[in-house]
Amino acid sequence: METALVWFRDDLRVTDNPVLTEALDRASTVLLVYVFDPRRRGPTQYGPEKLGSHRARFRLEAVAALRESLRERDGELFVRDGNPAELLPAIASTVDADAVFVQTKPATEERETERAVEAALPEHVEFERRWTHTLYHPEDLPTPPEQIADTFTPWRKTVEDTVSVREPLSAPDTVPAPTGSDAGDLEAGELPTLDALGVDDPPTDERAVLPFEGGEAAGKRRVDAYIWEEDRLREYKQTRNGLLGAGYSSKFSPWLAAGCLSPRWLYREVKRYEAERVANEDTYWLIFELLWRDFFQFQFRKHGRDFFQPGGIRGVEKEWRRDREQFRRWAAGETGVPFVDANMRELNQTGYMSNRGRQNVASVLADWLGIDWRWGAAYFEQQLVDYDVASNWGNWAYQAGVGNDSRDNHFDVLSQGEYYDAEAKYITHWLPELDGLPTEHCHRPWRMSAADQERSGVELGVTYPEPMIDVEKRSTELESE
Ligand SMILES: Cc1cc2nc3c(=O)[nH]c(=O)nc-3n(C[C@H](O)[C@H](O)[C@H](O)COP(=O)(O)OP(=O)(O)OC[C@H]3O[C@@H](n4cnc5c(N)ncnc54)[C@H](O)[C@@H]3O)c2cc1C
Repeated sequence: METALVWFRDDLRVTDNPVLTEALDRASTVLLVYVFDPRRRGPTQYGPEKLGSHRARFRLEAVAALRESLRERDGELFVRDGNPAELLPAIASTVDADAVFVQTKPATEERETERAVEAALPEHVEFERRWTHTLYHPEDLPTPPEQIADTFTPWRKTVEDTVSVREPLSAPDTVPAPTGSDAGDLEAGELPTLDALGVDDPPTDERAVLPFEGGEAAGKRRVDAYIWEEDRLREYKQTRNGLLGAGYSSKFSPWLAAGCLSPRWLYREVKRYEAERVANEDTYWLIFELLWRDFFQFQFRKHGRDFFQPGGIRGVEKEWRRDREQFRRWAAGETGVPFVDANMRELNQTGYMSNRGRQNVASVLADWLGIDWRWGAAYFEQQLVDYDVASNWGNWAYQAGVGNDSRDNHFDVLSQGEYYDAEAKYITHWLPELDGLPTEHCHRPWRMSAADQERSGVELGVTYPEPMIDVEKRSTELESE
């Protein structure tokens, strides 16, 4: 074919990008487009915004980096802000495109957008969807995603026994783009500002685990640092439940979510590390976690919008509370439960929270407070720099007891905090107002007597909130469950 249009979505990379590679193989010239879609920002039905400032900044950086990388290959990235179903057919007509190549995602709104674009294209333009964001390709699975079991472990075992990960594709050397009149004299277009995306500048906080810069090159630098320079993979499983610092887990998630890194490319890096340095349970465990990621992607393909129901994919009958003030306190990190508040303040300041933290704060909202878990998922959607529909809503549903596991996932947040943050270093990192308190009081400030409060200068209800939950009671109940 003469001209193909490549519509980048959450695949902001040139290495192992099957959409780009195939378009280049099949067409003489490719027109490369990224669209900032207003429907991916603005309010959700649950209250929070779809797009918060941390991810907006990361996305702008990732798109800018992609443009840079394409320009180095003699290409150009055309950037637009608007409805893809209006913009893409117009561009396709202008350059007389024969096909549109695009990454397909399993989530409901993303699929609706795809369908709308396809329907609006001139009839002769082919619409070529490619699944490009998981480790395993759905066509290689022993059971199609629509029919897979809802439980992770048997699925994982079968996949590991029967399927191979496809080799990652190399980045193209050049990206021949139509020029001048062949490009319909299209303007490349400026990237929008944060303001135009409806968000403020994100806070910068030197307490953050990482600065998280968007883009493929920055993602690869993180992989280099974590795997090769700092040699952390050999202890990943042992450290992954940490809370402080860059090294306890990979922090690859924002780059995977935006598609700056391909999981297949990452898999090959892990295999190379195993061949050149060490292969152990810890090195395997990173792949194990990528399988969790895959599992949720395929689960979304199977269950679609059921994931957004209050009763989740299992239709669990439960009356969820809708208490706006309690939700506000949870979101702001003002529950009066230090381990929860420290995690929420980290999220708000940086856009990131550890996996251990996410499980605990989700448990407090959905289980302890009984508040509609979807509000929490929507709040994470707004705040997370690594937000991904399937990973977020899938994990939230799981934690709320309405997802891919029928077991109760009640967390005893008090004992979790005391175990994983034994010296309360994480708590005081994010709640400096508690710094200097004895460790026990950092975890249970409500146990401070009036004299303790006077001595320490931490006055409950003034310096730090009174707890909004009877934590000790709930913790004791959970211990006896
Ligand atoms: C309530 C809740 C919401 C979450 N929301 C998201 C989200 O929106 N986006 C997201 O990428 N992850 C989400 N996770 C999963 C997990 O917490 C993050 O992927 C992880 O903390 C990111 O840090 P990391 O890259 O250092 O992870 P690592 O421990 O280094 O793991 C490596 C990679 O494996 C994948 N991974 C690890 N754990 C999970 C998991 N449980 N589910 C799916 N993938 C996983 C991620 O891509 C991660 O980058 C959520 C978990 C919970 C409990």
